[in-house]
Amino acid sequence: MKAFIYDYTFEQLEQWLKEQGEPAFRAGQIFDWLYVKRVTSFEEMTNLSKGLRGKLDESFDFVNLKVITHMKSQDGTVKFLFGLHDDHAIETVIMRHSYGNSICVTTQVGCRVGCTFCASTLGGLKRNLTAGEIVAQVVTAQKMLDETNERISSIVIMGTGEPFENYDATMAFLRTMIHERGLNIGQRHITVSTSGIVPSIYRFTDENTQINLAISIHAPNDALRSKLMPVNRRYPFIEVMEALKHYQVKTGRRITFEYALIGGVNDKVEHAEELADVLKRMEMLAHVNLIPVNYVPERNYIRTPRNDIFKFHRTLLDRGINSTIRREQGHDIAAACGQLRAKHLESNAR
Ligand code: SF4
Repeated sequence: MKAFIYDYTFEQLEQWLKEQGEPAFRAGQIFDWLYVKRVTSFEEMTNLSKGLRGKLDESFDFVNLKVITHMKSQDGTVKFLFGLHDDHAIETVIMRHSYGNSICVTTQVGCRVGCTFCASTLGGLKRNLTAGEIVAQVVTAQKMLDETNERISSIVIMGTGEPFENYDATMAFLRTMIHERGLNIGQRHITVSTSGIVPSIYRFTDENTQINLAISIHAPNDALRSKLMPVNRRYPFIEVMEALKHYQVKTGRRITFEYALIGGVNDKVEHAEELADVLKRMEMLAHVNLIPVNYVPERNYIRTPRNDIFKFHRTLLDRGINSTIRREQGHDIAAACGQLRAKHLESNAR
């Protein structure tokens, strides 16, 4: 199989051009066609010689994401179920905010992390996506927004999969997103979210970027976190916190703590107090994002009552911890992580 053209970072493309005896500046022209004009064939790259277009065509494919379903919520959220070349399906979501459009991308087909409240984990990990398959999600969504002259201005890597278990592809994807000749998305408008893969947190710290880091914490202590997230047995709570502290000391950046509230499991005032204590003890510059989970029929998880959500939130604020409750989007179109794909797999199995 040929490589995907979107797999190549700017520097890799320059290197490839050099090997073909072509000048390096052609990389800028090719990036312009790919990410600014957003063409989908080499034939359209009319300022390149016919010879070079032919070589590109022989060496690379475009990622062809087939839109299996595309649903629009009343609040403007758009959810895509994309089919890949090997018939796997992935989800991508565009969310509308007052400050612009953001996209939530997927980095793996399925996930092996095993968070007990997540539909993505049910079928396990099928495979990693290539950098180009992650890039293609953004390009395809942006092409749809082009029709209404809108732009994707921020990216969250919070779709299916653990980006830090597909580290190199995720980083190559990010390099293309932030490249000035690529989509040129501001680093501070990008957030990568991990379940706590400790060695990758250290690696990411050394990348020295301005990209935001979010951690799916979901519990204030080791025992409860292990119950909710089996990955915690591999990388215990305290090791995750130490890695995050290291990241913060090195980068000076605030960390977002994602906390999914699950009815009767981790949503009591005592849990909020314990979480606030840990964050204060570690002098962590933190923002806690509370996410009321949807009903997960496979696990018998229920939603936290509204009043308890507010109590949890208030407890954090009263202890000086910055926190917000995530606004729910796309509720009418199964926008929660992995639900659309789970439905698709279910109906294919029938
Ligand atoms: S929440 Fe994220 S890391 Fe956890 S199982 Fe789901 S996709 Fe994987």
